[in-house]
Amino acid sequence: MTTAIAVVGAGPAGIVVALELARKGHAVLLIESGGRLPDERTQALGDAAIADPAKHVAMGLATRRQIGGASNIWGGRCVPYDPIDFDRRPFIQDSEWPIAYEAIAPYFQRASDWFFTGRSAFNAHEIPEIRHRTIIPGLPDGDVLSSSLERWSLPTNFGRHYARELATTPGLRIAEGLTCVEIETDSAAGAVTGLRCRRLDGSEVRIQARHYIVACGGLETTRLLLASRSVMPRGIGNHSDLLGRYYMGHISGKIADVVFDTPPKETAYAYDRDADGVYVRHRLSFSREAILRERLPNIVGWLVNPEIAKPEHGSGVLSFAYLALSSPFFGKRFIAEGIRQAAIGNGPRVIWPHLANMLRDLPATAVFVPTFAYRRFLVRRKVPGFFVRSAANRYPLQYHGEQVPSPESRVTLSDECDELGMPRLRIDLRYCRQDVDGVLRAHELWDAHLRRHRCGRIEYHAGDLRAMIETQAADGYHQAGTTRMSRDPAHGVVDEHLRVHGIGNLHLASSSTFVTSGQANTTFMIVAFALRLADRLHETLQA
Ligand SMILES: Cc1cc2nc3c(=O)[nH]c(=O)nc-3n(C[C@H](O)[C@H](O)[C@H](O)COP(=O)(O)OP(=O)(O)OC[C@H]3O[C@@H](n4cnc5c(N)ncnc54)[C@H](O)[C@@H]3O)c2cc1C
Repeated sequence: MTTAIAVVGAGPAGIVVALELARKGHAVLLIESGGRLPDERTQALGDAAIADPAKHVAMGLATRRQIGGASNIWGGRCVPYDPIDFDRRPFIQDSEWPIAYEAIAPYFQRASDWFFTGRSAFNAHEIPEIRHRTIIPGLPDGDVLSSSLERWSLPTNFGRHYARELATTPGLRIAEGLTCVEIETDSAAGAVTGLRCRRLDGSEVRIQARHYIVACGGLETTRLLLASRSVMPRGIGNHSDLLGRYYMGHISGKIADVVFDTPPKETAYAYDRDADGVYVRHRLSFSREAILRERLPNIVGWLVNPEIAKPEHGSGVLSFAYLALSSPFFGKRFIAEGIRQAAIGNGPRVIWPHLANMLRDLPATAVFVPTFAYRRFLVRRKVPGFFVRSAANRYPLQYHGEQVPSPESRVTLSDECDELGMPRLRIDLRYCRQDVDGVLRAHELWDAHLRRHRCGRIEYHAGDLRAMIETQAADGYHQAGTTRMSRDPAHGVVDEHLRVHGIGNLHLASSSTFVTSGQANTTFMIVAFALRLADRLHETLQA
């Protein structure tokens, strides 16, 4: 098969870059390992060995081999990186991006349109209808900001929402059920000459194009480069031994409650909706100046419900949610398995105390069930979750922070191969002391800010805080860093235009190219960078 542009992987990155280029009149072939429906045999192609399963979820929970990729199961939280992420931060090792924030920010509105998240406005002050709403009244922005927002997608399933356009855009073809097992180059490894692809029935297809874009997800993109060893024995793009290194996700967990002294009814603990109907959530974040002064990794926090599995919360609504999600029959039908497991915990299923909560709290539970079911399952824009107001004005604080880049946190190829003969990954995600220190310092600063403005305080959960942070640190959903971007080939895998250093016609559209992980979930930025890549490639092809 031949085409002008071959895109490997039909997740959000691959779909966006393929459709953008096809809309501009280019012939594009989109190659996808999966099909329209999930399939266990195809999914198993991505299974990997995990060095420490307590630190990283299984690939079956973190990825989806299907048209649409992991957007078939994602949560839909959309957040861009902040200007501070692109600043020079000597206190975070190897954190220098080869581009400025201003080079990517112009793509945020177009990215928002792909996600159906309305305006690209991520601060309450920029949105007239909720300008007055922050987490609590009377808490001004200073070192700590309580006006920053995250926005929620439909959640947009890219395979489903763009299916019609994928099928009807002139010049765009999709080859599904076809897995790329090797990128082939000329003998000097200066240009890609073709893609070797296989089907599960044993047949093999060779694809040739002028330009190649790998968009297989953070880890699978890296795996494909590592496994392409015919000419470069250590893998394509591994000229500086950095391919697979600097693997990052986020550090997240809960070590404290926020206790507010303000009127409980005024706490904005739940989602707001803007005039476009988009759900937004308020967060506690830090100003650029505070992060630089405090030498803090970027981190945010938001209010959450008490753990639903613990009946001591006394809420019928939370108990109903626990019983529904932990139900062996219904549970898996409601949300992605990874999110479900995190919500219900791994203790034995408790029933009677939860039923007692529901009985005691019958009116609230009876109103909640149909209302939530309607908003979650029967409308196009789904409510992302639910919240229960705390009469005591006390809420657990969920933090979500940058994981500091480290070359020791890495993925490599294992000795085991998948059914198509491709070596599997071995994943070794490691957190470091600075990650933990950052979480602790952030809580101290949040506490000081609340007390200074007489709005409340942080109350820590009982136990060794450092140990609690270390135990909870785990990821696998946000896969960044393993093909990092750099101006100098000695410091990375791709250049500032996402072209693999030294290879003229190979680009990557993936969070693996991100130099740092910021506080933000990855997908919004993946799409912003995919848009930038499509524009750049279009210009190149026009020249
Ligand atoms: C449960 C869950 C919840 C999440 N929630 C959020 C959230 O709220 N917000 C957020 O920002 N992110 C979230 N994420 C992460 C988000 O889903 C990913 O960041 C996003 O899907 C990555 O897009 P991608 O296109 O780069 O890769 P993917 O979505 O992984 O798509 C890659 C595609 O490439 C295909 N592929 C892989 N290898 C090959 C090959 N060799 N040949 C051909 N095709 C191949 C795969 O089948 C897949 O379709 C979540 C993820 C999970 C699992």
